[in-house]
Amino acid sequence: MVTVTPSKGFQPVLERIAEEIGRTPGHGRPADYIPALAACDPRRFGMAVAEPDGTVYGVGDWRQPFSAQSVTKVFTLALDLAREGDALWEHVGREPSGNPFNSLVQLEYENGIPRNPFINAGALVVTDRLHTRTGDAAGELIAFLRAESGNPGLTFDREVAASEAAHGDRNAALAHFMASYGNIDNPVPVLLDQYVRQCSVAASCADLALATGFLARHGVRADGTRLLSRSQAKQVNAVMLTCGTYDAAGEFAYRVGLPGKSGVGGGIIAVVPGRCTLCVWGPGLDERGNSVSGVAALDRFTTLTGLSVF
Ligand code: GLU
Repeated sequence: MVTVTPSKGFQPVLERIAEEIGRTPGHGRPADYIPALAACDPRRFGMAVAEPDGTVYGVGDWRQPFSAQSVTKVFTLALDLAREGDALWEHVGREPSGNPFNSLVQLEYENGIPRNPFINAGALVVTDRLHTRTGDAAGELIAFLRAESGNPGLTFDREVAASEAAHGDRNAALAHFMASYGNIDNPVPVLLDQYVRQCSVAASCADLALATGFLARHGVRADGTRLLSRSQAKQVNAVMLTCGTYDAAGEFAYRVGLPGKSGVGGGIIAVVPGRCTLCVWGPGLDERGNSVSGVAALDRFTTLTGLSVF
């Protein structure tokens, strides 16, 4: 059950952050390697905080759907981990890569086993395994996001998916390369279709803050059923903290001090275990691919509230 509380709880701190962000010059540049994302106005900004009971607070463009992109990697990881447990970790590691999200070079040294589930190679492995187990990885993802956010209208953006598919040579190379090591089960074109649909999910800050709630509830879904064990939820939060913000995870931990996952659409989700989940959106990215205003807003949130895992 989703309750929107406009004037209490986290609302004053969100309003203060939005006001500060609005005064800060320099908002980065939208991703341009997927043409459909390049047109986003980098001055857009939204932020939402969801409490474990489903109460949501928001500011700015917090109800505006945007391209979730790599933020979805958290949900596919959780959905696959829930099904296959630790066997997943034989196919993908859980160490920071120190390389760009779409790098090929490390894969050859490490025999087709990607460093972690949040670089593209690792996410392709996770989606492949989820697809094998469910017959429709992208469908599982969207059903999960709709249920957790309470938004049945949440869906894929066909234009973004088509745009990425038309510019997907590098992801195709990663998938074929891993297939040559036997680390991909499905035909590569099938996997790539699932992957671009997954990345194209359009969701708002409110949707994604709510959908991340299971990580603040130690693995329990919005309806009270358990998706992950407490220990698995801790593991997903830990991988987010160490690997969730491209090769800037150290800087993100230093500034924000929370498990987080960013995407090139400019969204970032973050978790305060036991307390709340956040999603912030600002399409202007820094040179590592993280939202400039998003990181700044989360930095201010943990500073002003004292909420952090440290
Ligand atoms: N669809 C994007 C890609 O695979 C996701 C990138 C991201 O958000 O990190 O290139």
